[in-house]
Amino acid sequence: FFQRIKAGLRRTAQSLGGGFRALLGQKVDADFLDQLEAILLKADVGVAATERIIDRVKESYGNREATGDLLDFVKSEVRGLLQEDDTQLHFQEEGPTVIMVAGVNGSGKTTSIAKLTKRLSDEGRKVLLGAGDTFRAAAIEQLSTWAERTGADIVKGSQGSDPSSVAHDACTAAMARKVDVAIIDTAGRLHTQANLMRELEKIHRVIGKVIPGAPHEVLMVIDSTNGQNAIAQAENFTKAIECTGLILAKLDGTAKGGAALAIRDRLGLPVKFVGVGEKAEDLEAFNAEAFVDALFA
Ligand code: GDP
Repeated sequence: FFQRIKAGLRRTAQSLGGGFRALLGQKVDADFLDQLEAILLKADVGVAATERIIDRVKESYGNREATGDLLDFVKSEVRGLLQEDDTQLHFQEEGPTVIMVAGVNGSGKTTSIAKLTKRLSDEGRKVLLGAGDTFRAAAIEQLSTWAERTGADIVKGSQGSDPSSVAHDACTAAMARKVDVAIIDTAGRLHTQANLMRELEKIHRVIGKVIPGAPHEVLMVIDSTNGQNAIAQAENFTKAIECTGLILAKLDGTAKGGAALAIRDRLGLPVKFVGVGEKAEDLEAFNAEAFVDALFA
């Protein structure tokens, strides 16, 4: 995880590390804190996280000289923020665990589902896919191919069929076939945004009707190269359905790696996985320790 993420975060790390070094030896006063704040914000650490870190630095280093251990201090603060996050997937002890996956078209949703299927299958879990992105024939085909490759079951409707009914059938099949995990894909686009949000709510409701308490995880896929725009779109999704975590796709393609922190901060959701390439094995479980080390490397 560390090596792969380090490459993606190189530019962010340069600005963070360089900015920090320039501050060393100075007195930690208001001007110093302003500069530190600017460095953290520039790296996309996020407003809330930055404020918290600044407060802690002021508390512990106020009016003292900034020495090398300040960097360790800030790193441990960022790590502390992330370690409070629930980055695990929670599996049901009995009956299928249902994971609903949402995200706008092009975010990397289909690829992420494929990667997650491979990962869970490799862990020895029996997976069933519900190809609920019925708006796009390509998404259904792509998932079928992945189901074949990974040995997962798949339930699909024809293009244009009702996504909720695909979700319904997938959950029913998941119970009947006693699979461990059902991953339900959802539409990434409909004729209007309002329709899409209503659709997501409906799918969520239908899943819960077939399997009480489900979906157990609702993961939102975000294109991390897409910055503020991606965050704004994702905020709409979180208003429609209660999400449990994020998959940050394409983290290998962004120079603003700190965005992972900003997105997490803005949406108030933990990052559970990161996509670091186009291949099936390019999905990593999020690891706060390695992420922070790479961020400040
Ligand atoms: P969807 O429309 O949200 O289902 O998006 P796709 O899964 O079809 O992905 C859109 C494009 O992004 C494809 O070309 C994928 O290969 C690419 N992609 C997805 N995830 C990643 C990733 O983690 N890293 C890179 N480099 N490319 C990715």
